[in-house]
Amino acid sequence: MKAAIFHKPFNLTTEDVEMPASKDDEILLNIKACGICGSDLHMYKLDLYTEKLCKRTSKGLVPGHEFAGDVIKVGKNVQDFQIGDRVVAMFSGGGFAEYNSVKVFPGFNVHKIPPEMSYEEAATLEPLANSLHATLKGRPAAGENAVVFGAGIIGLGIVQCLKALDIELNKIIVVDVSDERLEMAKKLGADEAINAVKTDTDGKIREIVGWSPLMVYPDESTAHVHLVYDCVGYIKERSEPPVLQQAINMLKEYTGRVVVHGLFEETVPLDLSYLVVKQVDILGSFGFLPNEIVQALEMMETGKVDRRQIITHTFPLDQAKEAFDMQCDVDNSVKVIIKP
Ligand SMILES: [Zn+2]
Repeated sequence: MKAAIFHKPFNLTTEDVEMPASKDDEILLNIKACGICGSDLHMYKLDLYTEKLCKRTSKGLVPGHEFAGDVIKVGKNVQDFQIGDRVVAMFSGGGFAEYNSVKVFPGFNVHKIPPEMSYEEAATLEPLANSLHATLKGRPAAGENAVVFGAGIIGLGIVQCLKALDIELNKIIVVDVSDERLEMAKKLGADEAINAVKTDTDGKIREIVGWSPLMVYPDESTAHVHLVYDCVGYIKERSEPPVLQQAINMLKEYTGRVVVHGLFEETVPLDLSYLVVKQVDILGSFGFLPNEIVQALEMMETGKVDRRQIITHTFPLDQAKEAFDMQCDVDNSVKVIIKP
């Protein structure tokens, strides 16, 4: 079978490899669609998290952990699936291949999908569940102002979740460096979109949501931002201070919280004075809970969330490298899917 092999940064080739063995607690899938994740890009650009993201074959490491396809073999200890089921699966590298075996954690990492849901759409379930988990961790409430940094798949998913959950936020503001992605954020329901390269982000946010003097230091002030979603983390090649720093600086006193989902490509220095003085809550977010993946799938099935519009490109497996390069091109892509 064919599979995409990661060799070293920016070096990915499609090769012939052996079929994966499948064990008694695994199912074997004929993969129809697999999404390129933000974490895959950390690997592709910097060789970070590589072992965690890939499955080993005799020709090298195969990434891909957000995929959908047909069940073609069922291990004897697996209860809930049959040959022919259309499923979405996650938590296993090896998705950028014609076939992949997946260990089944019942009720968690493999789900049947309805006939009308495309494999491409289904492949975006895993990041949506991540977005839902992050959204809920922030405890968004009616009347609050939320700022989402990063309009990639996770940040856009957070916008979709905030809308789908019918939380009557005052303003959802999205900040990114790509006008294309900001356009998409507005289409999905963001009230305001700010290009961080072209605009003074903090000033613009103050203009939109207002600001007040600090209780403890009345000659200093802070914006009326209750909640920041950091879907950027720290990207080495960007010159701005980490979003986490910007979040600490802009959040409201006492009640402000920042949910950090983006990964950090290196250690960053932070000025934490405002963290203490304003009593900001920093919340980490990674993955999701079993009930959240079920809820995310329901949101897609019922049409509360439409993931089709964020898929901007599909590529065949033979063009896996082109697909990764397109996913790196933030000005021209949102979600890239490989169709083996
Ligand atoms: Zn992922």
